[in-house]
Parts: sequence; structure tokens; C-alpha cells
Amino acid sequence: MRWLLLFYLAIAPWATAEEVAEPAPVLPDYDLGQLRMEVKDFDRAIQPGYYYNDAYGTAVDSELVYQMFPGLWTDTRAIKLVQDELGKATEPRQQQILRNLSKAVSDMWLWRKVSALDDEILNTEADATVEIDGQTLSYRDVGVLSYNEKDVAKRKQYYYAGLDVVRDQLNPLYLRKSQQLSANVHELGYKNYADYVEKLKGYDFARWDKDCRGVLEETKGMMRTLMLEELHTALPGRSPDTVMPWDREGFSRHAEYDKYFLKETTMSFFHRIMAGMGIDLAKYPNIWVDDVDRPGKGGRPATYIMVVPNDIRVNIKLYGGATDYSSVFHEMGHALHYANTEVPEYELQMYGDGGLTETYAFLLESLLGDPIFLEEEIGMPAKEAKKFARLSLLGNIGGFRYYCRNFLFENYLHQDKPKPENYYAELSKKDAVYPVLPESITYSYLSGDEQFYGLYYLEAWFTEAVLADYLERNFGRRWWKEARSGEFLRGLWQQGEEIDCAGLCRQLGESQFGYKVALKRMVEMEKAIR
Ligand SMILES: [Zn+2]
Repeated sequence: MRWLLLFYLAIAPWATAEEVAEPAPVLPDYDLGQLRMEVKDFDRAIQPGYYYNDAYGTAVDSELVYQMFPGLWTDTRAIKLVQDELGKATEPRQQQILRNLSKAVSDMWLWRKVSALDDEILNTEADATVEIDGQTLSYRDVGVLSYNEKDVAKRKQYYYAGLDVVRDQLNPLYLRKSQQLSANVHELGYKNYADYVEKLKGYDFARWDKDCRGVLEETKGMMRTLMLEELHTALPGRSPDTVMPWDREGFSRHAEYDKYFLKETTMSFFHRIMAGMGIDLAKYPNIWVDDVDRPGKGGRPATYIMVVPNDIRVNIKLYGGATDYSSVFHEMGHALHYANTEVPEYELQMYGDGGLTETYAFLLESLLGDPIFLEEEIGMPAKEAKKFARLSLLGNIGGFRYYCRNFLFENYLHQDKPKPENYYAELSKKDAVYPVLPESITYSYLSGDEQFYGLYYLEAWFTEAVLADYLERNFGRRWWKEARSGEFLRGLWQQGEEIDCAGLCRQLGESQFGYKVALKRMVEMEKAIR
């Protein structure tokens, strides 16, 4: 796979020379076939820069790639061409291809407009350093170091060192990005970035607003119970209103369970579980897992889809402990989805409903919160498995609630409403068990902005519950031990992104697409592990 890196380096001198000369680009008049080909080529050319930035910390310069495809993004002709063709299409599959292509070309046009700023953000994150006790550390390593730090005073130091970078260097860039997104979509006739996502991707944000508020209301009791339980075990007698972010980081680490999740066996354990479903990972040379630790490597696990289905890369930093196992199960859910895809049209491999691939990732990850799986596969004694499952459930509900709040916040931020920081504080403080510091708001209100990617996670919470229910009903409570489950999942993965989450739920016999099944499973799980 080295050719990608060589390719990236080789074009640099050429593109820089072009940039200086600034020739007026010759814009080709596309027909649909050419446009589809160019979009695919563009996508395959732009991915490596982001992958190497994340894996090695090398500078990303997507401008170079954009210059190779001047006709695509200089104006809005590509967007109009696809919309015209979509208006004429009568065959459902062709309509679906064009709908997905329309989303993709609009997004590519828009991201091109903010690409220089995006590069600046990534490069700032990769280059930023902090000083701790006279030692210079990479900003990207602070999270991992703090996560593994036993000394609370040191964790507090990490917290404030990271805060300085976010407040002074990153927040101004994040804010500029959200403003630029809205300013640019005006050109396409949308009111703001929220309006763009809602209309282009066919969401009903009023319904999502209602669902998110529903989840927050219906899970607050369970959340509080589980959080106080965790606190009383970790810091007996400690009052919740004295718990600071750096305290919480210490006890949410749960190092006492590390002995069950050895770093050295993370990958082999995953291989064994997949083999139980008849999925032999030795037969997937198209999945490349990079779990090497090196300075400057990004801390957030990610899967890069270079070419479907032939080149799928999982980038992961192993911290040691249960989180590693969750990360591997999650990312490999994505990797197996795309590595098994057989649908030939590029637009149905990549540009559908992103919630679908998150569903497959969630499904595998959720095994690590199942008390039976923990007891029988991980080897925990039954009592410990239940205790650990309660912590997993806390993490799961916490994540669900986080993304519901995130949707409400992003829907506010990206409608360009005033004082987003205050709205974020209001959302964060509602039903909070621990004090919410003003610094914590500054820390997270913009760095958590994923420009509505979180909707895919929320869809995945809804859909994974329906899929897990289906697997249990049809292949048994221990569905991960059944070759028929592997066969069934491969059948789903082969469809690529041809179906969406609501469509998958319907296929599985659930006509209502919403949070009710997920909530029901959480309530049942909480009872089962008391
Ligand atoms: Zn994911």
C-alpha cells in the first residue's frame, strides 16, 4: 500500500508550481458517466492525506488533491447536473444512486470551500504541544496520558494544559469553521448549515428534536442510579457535588478489570470470536489493522475506507484495558461491513446512510457489555461480569445521552443562533450529577461539534437494538457462537449502503424507527444485571 504515500509526496512539487502560476482552470463539461468516474477518483485521492495525518501525524494538504480535479469544485455545475438527472430519473435504483451522488457532490463542494481551514485545524491539533513539569508533550497524547494517570494532581495538570490549547488555538478555528459552513450553503439556496443537512439528507429535525428530548427525559433516572453506584464503589462516602472532571477520569478508567483485557491478546481474541460465527479473518487481506504505537498518532480509533472492498484500514492506538477491546470490536464492525460489500455501484457502497455502518460497529461493540459474553468468553466470574456490565451500561446510556444533547446543540449552533456557549452550558447542566465547570464548557462546546455526524450514531443506537433483538430471536441468546449469524451478517454487509437504517429495521420486522426498542433493551438489561 506504499504507493499511496509515494503518490501523495510525488504530486507536491507539481501542485505548488501550479499554485504560484494560478492558471485559469479549463473546465470540462461533464456528462453523468464522467462525473461519476471523477467523483470516485477524487474520493480515492483525498483519503490518504487524512489517513497519514491520523496514523503518522504528517501534514495534510488536501488543496493539492482539489487542484487535480478543478472542474468538479470550482463552481456548482456538478451539483446542478446531478440534480437535473435526478429530476429525470424514473427507475428506483437509478434514483437512489443519484440521490446519494447528489449528497456526495454537494458535501464535497462544501468541504472544498472549508478545506484550507480544515487542514489548519488538523495540523494545529497534530503540532500543538503542552508543557508539563518542564516536559514538552504532544497535545494529542494528553488524553491517553491522563487516562492512564493514577495521580489526581497530575490529571488536573493535564486537564488545564489541554484546556489552554483548546481555548487559545482550537476554539477560534472551530468557530470559524461553523460560520464558514453556513456562509457557503447560502450559495446553494439553504438558510444555514442545519437547513442544508436537514433538506439534503432528508431528515426531519423537528422529529429528531422530540426524540432526543424524549431519550434525555426517559433515561435520566437510570443514568443517575448507575453514576452514583460507580461513584460509591470508586470513592466511598464522596459527595457527587465535589467530583471534578479530573477525579472522574481516574475512576471511570476501571483498571481493576484490565487483567481480563490484556493488550497482547486484543486482536487474537477478536479473531476467535469472529471464528465462532464462521468469519475467518485470515480470509480478509483487504483489512489492514495498524495498532502500532508511535508519537503523533491520533488517539481516536478510526477506519479509513480507501477502496471498497479492497483496501480498508483500521487505525488504532492500544491503551491497555477494556476500551481497547471495545475500540477493536467497533472499528472491525466498520471494516467487515465495507470489506464484504459486493454492491457494484460506488454511490451505493459509500454515500448512503452513515448510520448503517455505525449499526454494525455498535453491534459487535455491544457484545462487551453483555454479562453472558463477559462470563463465558472473557472469563469473568458471574458476579464480576454483572458489575462490569453495569459499568458498560452506564457508558452506553451516557453516550446515548451525550449524542442526544449534541444533536440539540449542533442544531442550535448551525442555525447560527446567538451565544452557543451559553446554550451548551444549559444543556450540560440539566440533570447533571456532577458539577459542570465553566472551563469544561469552554473545553468541549466546539470540539464536540461533529457537524451532525452524531445523527448517524443516534440512528445506530436505534437500529443496533432492533438487529440485536433479531439475532437473539432467530439464532439464540448466544448468537455470536452461531455460524448462521455470521452468514446472516455477511448477507447484510454485502449490501453495502444500499439500504438505510429505517429500511434495515423494516427488513427485520420493526416498522417504527425510533428510540423505543433501544430504551426497552436498556431497561431490561439494567434489571438483568442487578
Ligand atoms: Zn464508528
